[in-house]
Amino acid sequence: MALIDSFGRTIHYLRVSITDRCNLNCDYCRIDGNEILPNNDKLLTLEEIGRLIRIFTELGIERIRLTGGEPLLRKNILTLIKEIGSLPHLQELSLSTNALLLKRYAHDLKKAGVSRVNISLDTLNPKTFNTITRGGKLQKVLDGISTAVEAGLHPVKINMVVMKGVNDNEVGDMVEYARTHGLILRFIETMPVGDAGKQVSARYIPAEEILTMIKERFAAELIPVHQKIGSGPARYYQIVGTKANIGVISARSRHFCDTCNRMRLTSTGQLVLCLGHEDRKDLRTTIREGATDVQLKEQIQEAVYLKPESHQFDNKDILGATHQMTALGG
Ligand code: SAM
Repeated sequence: MALIDSFGRTIHYLRVSITDRCNLNCDYCRIDGNEILPNNDKLLTLEEIGRLIRIFTELGIERIRLTGGEPLLRKNILTLIKEIGSLPHLQELSLSTNALLLKRYAHDLKKAGVSRVNISLDTLNPKTFNTITRGGKLQKVLDGISTAVEAGLHPVKINMVVMKGVNDNEVGDMVEYARTHGLILRFIETMPVGDAGKQVSARYIPAEEILTMIKERFAAELIPVHQKIGSGPARYYQIVGTKANIGVISARSRHFCDTCNRMRLTSTGQLVLCLGHEDRKDLRTTIREGATDVQLKEQIQEAVYLKPESHQFDNKDILGATHQMTALGG
């Protein structure tokens, strides 16, 4: 079974946001103060999430990433992970997290069936961390990263959103940190998704500039790594003369829509076909109206066929208030 869209792309990867809540408040992700979280009755239950994920895997989804908000805030997440981890068609179950709760959870996640984690870390400076996250404590994240490595959630990938005048002076330090700790580092361009994402557009730095910063810092060339690392859109480079590889995710400056293999399910059961389009399919209503597995599969297949050809990040009118990163999971 395979899910193929109208442009011939095979969709085998699903990101599932299991809560919109977060224990950080990053300024490029979330608007401060006036955020409205979905009511509990709108949230998919763990049973509904488990059922949908099973159905997606029967349709050809091979990789699932749990995300949020902060997924580790969802009550009974380990029960859900155990259920998903035993699905016969699933090749990989991973998690995106800010690592604040990893010290407590990393070993249990590994035991329950998570193979690896992606961790957001934008700075190694406690003050800058506190500012970006509006109050977060960096040391807790660093402790969480160490525990993830110790628990064997391998490879641990670090995602750094690089922002002009905020943390762009730390690109080289982050390479050193990742190399010393055995982590895979990816630099991400800011995306104009959601109100917060749009507000930080002035901080945008294209991937090519980030690569230039690295060349200058290490006085070294970068050679593309052709060996496949993960199934995501990152382009990887080796820093010549060092053992370090780094990745860039250039969603704006050099988009990769022609090879897009993914879609997203929000915590309220909306299937989102593209991060750069608001169109969505409401699977929560379908499931709560008593749809059978066959009916749900038909709806999903129809939706996949409507996946847009490419994102619309540069069309400022298209991404409105309903399209928030906290609901989409990154
Ligand atoms: N709490 C988890 C975490 O911290 O990774 C998962 C949710 S978070 C929304 C997922 C990813 O989205 C993070 O790597 C974050 O940096 C990224 N993100 C959020 N807003 C963004 C934006 N405007 N542009 C680029 N990346 C963004």
